[in-house]
Amino acid sequence: MSTILITGGSGFIGSHLIDHLIRDNHQIISLDNHITGRPSNLDHLKDNPNLKTIHHDITEPIDIEEKIDYIFHMASPASPIDYIQIPKETLLTGSIGTKNMLDLAQKHSARLLLASTSEIYGDPLEHPQKETYFGNVNTTGPRSCYDEAKRFAEALTMAYHRTHNTNVVIARIFNTYGPRMRPNDGRVVPNFIIQSLKNESITINGDGTQTRSFCYIDDQIDGLTKLMFSNIQGEAVNLGNPEETTISAVSEKIKTMTNSTSTTTYNDMPENDPIRRLPDITKAKNLLDWKPKTDIETGLSATIEHFKNNMQQTETTDQ
Ligand code: UDP
Repeated sequence: MSTILITGGSGFIGSHLIDHLIRDNHQIISLDNHITGRPSNLDHLKDNPNLKTIHHDITEPIDIEEKIDYIFHMASPASPIDYIQIPKETLLTGSIGTKNMLDLAQKHSARLLLASTSEIYGDPLEHPQKETYFGNVNTTGPRSCYDEAKRFAEALTMAYHRTHNTNVVIARIFNTYGPRMRPNDGRVVPNFIIQSLKNESITINGDGTQTRSFCYIDDQIDGLTKLMFSNIQGEAVNLGNPEETTISAVSEKIKTMTNSTSTTTYNDMPENDPIRRLPDITKAKNLLDWKPKTDIETGLSATIEHFKNNMQQTETTDQ
């Protein structure tokens, strides 16, 4: 049993990670300021003695009484509609927040996993994206607050590793979906599911030919935990699903699966929205013996079920 700190523990990925680690009998401390994470994501664990939650903004330093063995540094706004609205918070979480967590890791001699993102590749010019690709990011564009925060976070994490020998590893997380995404999260899967369930118009940005590769949450958690508990240090590893699909195809699939009568509205493509995104996961396959197992139908069906059962919430804006 280890003591594990999770930043962003009330978020979509953070809360699933906590479920997994609690099942494995670890002692969990969750830090979250609930700027995008929701306390209700951990409601089912509120009487669990192995979970301690602390309301904290990680841009402020913090010390933890317990000896920490591992830090999953997950905290950050991650949806374009969020980080474009709160760009300064996004940049400061990725920079100062990451520094505070690296200092904590160093103090406790803990191993830190940085949750990075496929966004560090920007609007990529190479397909699929390998870890060796340097990316194509507009440093002043609307998405730069997230892309550059995460690029800085990766650079700082590597600097601590090189300077202080801090035990670190970087996960580059590609589009991940599943239950507990916020209904008003703004990302494509929750948007299309809710629009379809309500028979409202499906909002496609651009002509829908842009692509993403969608990884189901259970597979992502499996990858993240395998990476954390591996002996890989000072390296970045892509974690995502290598099945590429167009946004139009996703909308059709969701419409069919929900028996929806929704029509489609085509909106302007947001500035710097990546045209193609596709992970090369050879490194994760070779080093972690990991690859996603859930096909898109199975993952979408569980996610649709979740939103059906939580339709009440879809009426509210509970940021
Ligand atoms: N998208 C869309 N309609 C929506 C939300 C998103 O067409 O209601 C598009 C978005 O422009 C992008 C893709 O779906 O091309 C994935 O967007 P998302 O916000 O889920 O995540 P991203 O991969 O861009 O971070």
